[in-house]
Amino acid sequence: MTRPRPGALTFTAPARGMPPRHLADLTPLERTAAVKELGLPGFRARQLSTHYFERLVDKPEQMTDLPAASRSELVGDLLPRLLTPVRHLVADEGRTVKSVWRLHDGALVESVLMRYPDRVTICISSQAGCGMNCPFCATGQGGLTRNLSTAEIVEQVVAGARMLRSGELPGGAADEVTSPLRVSNVVFMGMGEALANYSRAVGAIRRLLDPTPDGLGMSARGLVMSTVGLVPAIDRLAGEGLPVTLALSLHAPDDELRDELVPVNTRWKVGEAIDAAHRYFQATGRRVSIEYALIRDVNDQAWRAERLADELTARGRGWVHVNPIPLNPTPGSRWTASRPGVEQQFVERLRARGIPTTVRDTRGRDIDGACGQLAAAE
Ligand code: SAH
Repeated sequence: MTRPRPGALTFTAPARGMPPRHLADLTPLERTAAVKELGLPGFRARQLSTHYFERLVDKPEQMTDLPAASRSELVGDLLPRLLTPVRHLVADEGRTVKSVWRLHDGALVESVLMRYPDRVTICISSQAGCGMNCPFCATGQGGLTRNLSTAEIVEQVVAGARMLRSGELPGGAADEVTSPLRVSNVVFMGMGEALANYSRAVGAIRRLLDPTPDGLGMSARGLVMSTVGLVPAIDRLAGEGLPVTLALSLHAPDDELRDELVPVNTRWKVGEAIDAAHRYFQATGRRVSIEYALIRDVNDQAWRAERLADELTARGRGWVHVNPIPLNPTPGSRWTASRPGVEQQFVERLRARGIPTTVRDTRGRDIDGACGQLAAAE
C-alpha cells in the first residue's frame, strides 16, 4: 500500500491513533450503559455528566457527591485525559489566547480563544493536520495526521471554558466585561476539514448544543461549521436538524483559480459548492457565510468581485453574506494580502450589488494564531 504523500488530497483518515473512549464521545443513553457495565447504578452517568459539562470538573477529588471508590473508577473509565497543554500564547492585550495541545499519541492541535466586548469565541480544530491541501493555508501544507475524536473536539471548548472561568483571559477594560463569562461562539475554523471527519464533528456539535448536564447547552446561533465545500457532506448536514451556520471557503468565483486555491474544487466545482450552500440555507433558514481570503493580485480584481456577486445573486437575495479576510501570509508563501484600498473596493462592489459584506477581524497574528496560521510546528 502506498502512503499518501503529505498534503495529498485524502478524504478519509486512517483510524490509527484514536484516543480512549471519553464521556463526551457518548450519548446520554450510552453513558448510562457504560456506567452499568462498570457495575455502578445508571444514575451515576448523569452525575458525572454534571461534573464535566456543567461544573467543567474532571478530577475525582472534586466529585464529592460520588462515593470515593466509584469516583476513580468513573474518571479512569470515562474521563481519560485527552489534551495536555504544550503552551498557551497570549496576544491582543490578553484578549486572545492560542493553546497548543498534545494528544495521547503525540499529535499536536491548536485552539484559539478570543474575547470580545459582547461575546467569547473559540476557534477549534477537528483534525490533526488537514488533507485539503489549500496552498495558502499553513495547516494544509503538512497533510493529514488523523481525525480527532468527538471528545477531543469537545474538550477544546471545555478547556476554553475552564480558562475563562479561572480568569486566564483577563483582557478588556472593566466596562467590556461580559457577564456571565462563558464561551458563546464556537467556530470550526482551526485545523482540519470538519466535514471530512463528519460523524465525529456532528457528534461534537450535539454535545455543544445538548442542554446541561447532557452537553454544554450552547445556542446553535453561536456555532459556525466551515468547509472547503464537500458537497455531499453539506447536504447531509442540512438534514441533521442542527441549525448551525455554514461557512463556505470559496476564495474564488471561477473554477480556473479555485482549482488552484482550493484543490477539492477539481471534484466539486464553484457552481456545485454554491448550490449546496444555497440548499443549506433553504433547509435551515440560516444565512450562509462565504469566506474569501483576499490575496494581492490573485483573487482581488474588480471583475472577480462582480463575478462573485453574479454567482451569489443568481441564487436569490438575502441568503448569504460575504466575509472577506486579508490573507495571513504563511512562511515562505509567494502570496500576500491585498492592498487596503483594493480590499475596500472589493467590499464596496459586493455591497453595491446588495450583498452584505463584512471584513473579518483577524486576531492573534503575532502568535501565529490568526486564520490559516495554525500549524502546531513544535
Ligand atoms: N477546513 C475548513 C476550516 C479551515 S480554516 C475550511 O476550509 O473552511 C478557516 C478559514 O480560514 C477557511 O476559510 C480558510 O480557507 C481560511 N484560511 C486558511 N488559511 C488562511 C490564510 N493564510 N489567510 C486567511 N485565511 C485563511
